[in-house]
Amino acid sequence: MNTETASARAAFRFDNSFARDMAGFYARTDPAPVDAPRMIRFNRPLAVELGIDPDALDSPSGAEILAGSALAEGSTPIALAYAGHQFGGFSPQLGDGRAILLGEIIDASGDRRDIQLKGSGRTPFSRRGDGRAALGPVLREYIVSEAMFALGIPTTRSLAAVATGEGVRRETILPGAVLTRIAASHIRIGTFQFFAARGETDKVRRLADHAIARHYPELIGAANPYFALFAAVLERQAALVARWMQVGFIHGVMNTDNCAISGETIDYGPCAFMNAYDRSTVYSSIDRNGRYAYGNQPPIIQWNLARFAETLLPLIDAARERAVGQMTTALEQFPERYAAHWLAGMRAKLGLSTAEDGDADLANALLAAMRDGRADFTLTFRRLGPAARDESAFAEVRALFGFPQGFDDWSIRWRERLARERRDPAERADTMDAVNPAYIPRNHLVEEALAAAHDGDMAPFDALHAVVLRPFEEKPGWGRYALPPDDADEGYQTFCGT
Ligand code: AMP
Ligand code: MG
Repeated sequence: MNTETASARAAFRFDNSFARDMAGFYARTDPAPVDAPRMIRFNRPLAVELGIDPDALDSPSGAEILAGSALAEGSTPIALAYAGHQFGGFSPQLGDGRAILLGEIIDASGDRRDIQLKGSGRTPFSRRGDGRAALGPVLREYIVSEAMFALGIPTTRSLAAVATGEGVRRETILPGAVLTRIAASHIRIGTFQFFAARGETDKVRRLADHAIARHYPELIGAANPYFALFAAVLERQAALVARWMQVGFIHGVMNTDNCAISGETIDYGPCAFMNAYDRSTVYSSIDRNGRYAYGNQPPIIQWNLARFAETLLPLIDAARERAVGQMTTALEQFPERYAAHWLAGMRAKLGLSTAEDGDADLANALLAAMRDGRADFTLTFRRLGPAARDESAFAEVRALFGFPQGFDDWSIRWRERLARERRDPAERADTMDAVNPAYIPRNHLVEEALAAAHDGDMAPFDALHAVVLRPFEEKPGWGRYALPPDDADEGYQTFCGT
């Protein structure tokens, strides 16, 4: 073995708690070697954050490891079992059908992180699938997850995209790739459902204990740690979905198996960003009834949390009725907890530093005006900052509205509200610019980048990537990245299948 290979193999210092402590929750599975691994993109800043030497992995030997063709030292590759409600229907066995957990490392800040390969071949959970991923969806997850991170939203991260040199059969033959995904863990609501559905209460308890120790250590020793776990997950999910709503993010496939217990955004499949504000926006081709439409995301996460609550019932109280009563009460807190996170975020977006009773109404009135005027969600908020700085900039916001009457009425209310806070307008505008992004990974730009990458040209991907990593910094020359497409994504569709 040459030194490059040796240092790539030794790049991760694994400490695999799930493989070690959670036998019975996974299948030991090696990734399948590929023809010709080639590094497409490697996330060097993330490697540093993970405490990994970027040079050790950003190499041909690193590509072999991250494609699954060679095994890193200390890795115990496993595929995790999970179940899940998909579009409301329960599947008792899903599991990692195209993903393999290489192991866990402790990052530079002392946090435990999963290193997972997605698209690394068949596992015992693959069912009829090929265990593979195509380049397009891999790069989509790479860029959108990194954009979400830059927006300050809890998310899994992307360490690398490696081409496999093999074709994958979808509707056509597409170039194959493997994504290296980094997550606080890959424990999902569906992981709990897998064991609860089999009546394996002891395993549900072990999983809950593992999740508490890993994600909510402050709950160890709580009077009822499992009830506390539920409340804590509810809180993180309420906060997370509120953040999605504030950037116009539509996850697209909020099945319970795609809901992480850690509170990170996970599984970027058919996700997309809304342009004109419309709560019924759906882009996913498989979401025919709009179950996961933009505006449904808060009630859907509450529905998913109800499924999580059901898995914990035997741990809450031996008397089922009492357990149901407790969990129902906890679940009923969701609308209020969500509303609190949402309102805090909306106040920041509107430049409000104090709280008044009418603030939720004020925010909703702007959204109603945006809906009626078919105004672009991201641009409207972005342009409010300059308007708060200097009244002459109101025209730039107004211009986004097809029917500006609603906005005109609203802007009078907003100005009156701002006037009740004694705050320097420039300072206020600066805080608004720091929370209202100028750049999101707009659908048409992502598609353009992926189409070019498919043809071997990574320049559009790299350009867009650079922009979305700086979502709050407007730069000359980046103008087109801030604009919605001319057709406002009329008829735009996303597809599943990383
Ligand atoms: P998703 O809708 O992407 O969250 O995936 C749902 C389930 O389908 C998971 O159990 C995946 O592992 C499985 N799956 C999706 N695509 C494939 C594939 N190409 N090969 C094997 N399993 C897959
Ligand atoms: Mg999934």
